[in-house]
Amino acid sequence: MSARIALVCGAGGFIGSHLVRRLKAEGLWVRGVDLKFPAFSETAADDFVIGDLCEPDFCRSIVDRRFDEVYQLAADMGGAGYIFTGEHDAEVMHNSASINLNMLEACRRRAASRIFYSSSACIYPLYNQEDPDNPNCTEPSAYPAAPDSEYGWEKLFSERLYLSYQRNHGIKVRIARYHNIFGPEGTWRGGREKAPAAICRKVAEAPDRGEIEMWGDGNQTRSFLYIDECLDGTLRLTRSDFSGPVNVGSEEMVTINELARMAMRIAGKELTVRHIPGPLGVRGRNSDNHLIRERLGWAPSRPLEAGLAATYRWIEQQVRGKELRQAA
Ligand code: NAD
Repeated sequence: MSARIALVCGAGGFIGSHLVRRLKAEGLWVRGVDLKFPAFSETAADDFVIGDLCEPDFCRSIVDRRFDEVYQLAADMGGAGYIFTGEHDAEVMHNSASINLNMLEACRRRAASRIFYSSSACIYPLYNQEDPDNPNCTEPSAYPAAPDSEYGWEKLFSERLYLSYQRNHGIKVRIARYHNIFGPEGTWRGGREKAPAAICRKVAEAPDRGEIEMWGDGNQTRSFLYIDECLDGTLRLTRSDFSGPVNVGSEEMVTINELARMAMRIAGKELTVRHIPGPLGVRGRNSDNHLIRERLGWAPSRPLEAGLAATYRWIEQQVRGKELRQAA
């Protein structure tokens, strides 16, 4: 029997590059597509095409056969420093919406079997996430809609776009709302990094008994899902009969101060935290996993600290590498 074939859009990014590796390990033939190659390792894809998914012709050219599985992960995104300042709103909305419009149309023409779309916890309304101890992120709570960023609005629009193509054109669509995915080979500096990577980098760079800076008072809450767990949930959803949208996240909610203390414990360092003003996002957010447990029998299997330890070790190596290059 010939191998199943998969297309991964955003294969040069953090989740996409890990996903390609996982699909290859499972024996699929994989085409990856992105504006760039993965930043920290060689791609595992059989075929990697560099190009801009905002271009309809390019999307048609890469969907040149009937893929068994299409994963649409490409998006113009970043951490709070990128999404919440307002400076990139037009780009974020234009680029990500164009990618989704073009990819769906290309998949419709080639009758792709099923397409996975990575939405985000950022679609949930601000009004349900003001109390750090009791955020409400059940799937139906997305409406009445009031995301706190244009990034979230674009994701919500695209969820509806994918569901429309399923309804009108019979494409099987699977939609996950990811909640803060982290792990080795994620962006760890430069402005697009997320909280776990930023904190690990600051802790790794600081001398013992030194100081790190943190945006805000650190009492805002979040949950974080390790990359391997994210891939388990993604594949389970894609190959199921359930379309979603469904949360793919962890329910282990921590404050950002607790996250920083966890990183210090892993590093074996005692550091002082200096709180400074900065872009923050909502006060509280946690994944609610009732629906995914019920429909797919899935839940993360390991505690946050295990994933953070693996991520810290990887970031520490990057920091050491940078210091050695600067000293040379
Ligand atoms: P990432 O930024 O590392 O990967 C996205 C990739 O898309 C990048 O490699 C980028 O070059 C590519 N891309 C952007 N515009 C493109 C274009 N015009 N043409 C071709 N490629 C283009 O992000 P990630 O963390 O791997 O996230 C993957 C997906 O999951 C995104 O859709 C993101 O919105 C979603 N998501 C991620 C998280 C998270 O915590 N990482 C949370 C919620 C949702």
